[in-house]
Parts: sequence; structure tokens; C-alpha cells
Amino acid sequence: MNNRISPATIELLIRERNKGKPLRQLGQMFGRSHEGVRQLLAKNDRSQVTLLPESRVAAKLGYPEGWLARLRKEGIINPVKPGGFWLYSEEQVRQIPSLIAEMRRCEQCGKPRPLSYPRFCRECSQYREKHHYESLSPEAKAEHVKRCLAWRKANRERSKKIHSRAKQEVSG
Ligand SMILES: [Zn+2]
Repeated sequence: MNNRISPATIELLIRERNKGKPLRQLGQMFGRSHEGVRQLLAKNDRSQVTLLPESRVAAKLGYPEGWLARLRKEGIINPVKPGGFWLYSEEQVRQIPSLIAEMRRCEQCGKPRPLSYPRFCRECSQYREKHHYESLSPEAKAEHVKRCLAWRKANRERSKKIHSRAKQEVSG
């Protein structure tokens, strides 16, 4: 039973296994029990990787599945999809937390941002809301001024009212 198996045979075994052949079928092909095949693979294939489906990876790491999907769609991580499911190697699973932390950085200050904030952290979002004009790019500022002037021209009366009210607020 313990007849030696040639390296070429082992290589073939590994290749077939990676294609998804069941252990039992491999056992029949190579004249071994499925447990014998499993042991052979475990002993010989150092590169043999356990692949985890996306939902399991997300649950394991405690992230919404959408975050993994986003990493994948943006090509930051490249899982395989041999059947209907995306599968991640253990190495990829290890990399995911830092990749997600990177993805979740605020576009303005670089600090991690909460889930509900799609681009900026809470502070930067609030700042941008309050100081909308200051946070614009020079081109956007010019565009904004152009639109304001056009609006004032088209709405002279309302514009005058707003202007005098603003003046009162400043002096009062
Ligand atoms: Zn920020």
C-alpha cells in the first residue's frame, strides 16, 4: 500500500485537485483511498490554498459584503471565480483589513471615515457643508461666482433684499 508515488504523479494529482476533482475520484484514478489522497496532497502541496467564499470572508472579518465587492470591482484585490462564487485565498484574506482601511480614508484629510460617509470623514464633511465655497477648487470657485452673478442679474429685487438682510445681520 505504501508504494512510492513519483513526483510527476504527485504533480498531476495536485493539478487535478486544483481543478476541483473530488478526493474520492482522485483516489480511484490513482489507486488510493480518498484519505490517502488527502494526506498525499497535504504533505506535498505547500502551495495548496484554502479558498474562502466572499460571504464567509466578510463574516469572518466583520465587514459588509459590499466592501469586499468594492475592493474587487476596483481591482484592488483579485479573487477567483471558478464556479458561481468569488473565492479568496488565505493570503488575500490577511491583506483585506489594511486594504479596507486604505479605501476608507477621507479624501480630504486622510483619516479613516465612518461607513455612512462616502468620501470624507465627519469633520471634513461638516466643514465642507459649512464652508462650501472655501472647499471648492479654483475652477469651481470661478464657476460659482459666475453663476451667482448671473442669478443676481436675473433676480435683482430678491438679490437686493438678501444683500440688505445680510448687511443688517453683520452690523446687528
Ligand atoms: Zn477628513
